[in-house]
Amino acid sequence: MVPVIVRCGRCRSELEIPGPGEFVCPACGTRNVARGGVAPDPYSISGAAPASASGLTVPGGGPAPIAPPGPPTDIRWGTCPACRYKFATGEVEAVTCPNCRASLLRSSDGNLGITEG
Ligand SMILES: [Zn+2]
Ligand SMILES: [Zn+2]
Repeated sequence: MVPVIVRCGRCRSELEIPGPGEFVCPACGTRNVARGGVAPDPYSISGAAPASASGLTVPGGGPAPIAPPGPPTDIRWGTCPACRYKFATGEVEAVTCPNCRASLLRSSDGNLGITEG
C-alpha cells in the first residue's frame, strides 16, 4: 500500500494514512473515506494507476490512415522526332529539345513535331 495524504472533511486537518479507504480523523474523530486520488474503480490494479490515467486507449482501435505520398505528378513526356530523345515537356506547347536543340511544337494528339524556321 502506498501512503496517501488525506484531508479530513470536517476539520480540514491533513493526515497520512496507509492507503485509500476509510479512516478516522485523529483530531475530531470524524470517519472519512479516502479515494486515493482517483474514483473507486473495481477493475483498477491497486497502486498502479496514477491520478491521470486517461488518454492511454486508442479511440476506434484502428490504425490511422496513411497519407498518400504527395500529389500526383503531372508530367507529360514527349519524344523528339529529330533525335528520339525522350524528355518531360510539361504543359507548354512549344519546347526546345534539350538534346539537339530542335524547336518542337506539340500537336493536338500530344506528339511533338519539328517547327521549321
Ligand atoms: Zn477531522
Ligand atoms: Zn532532339
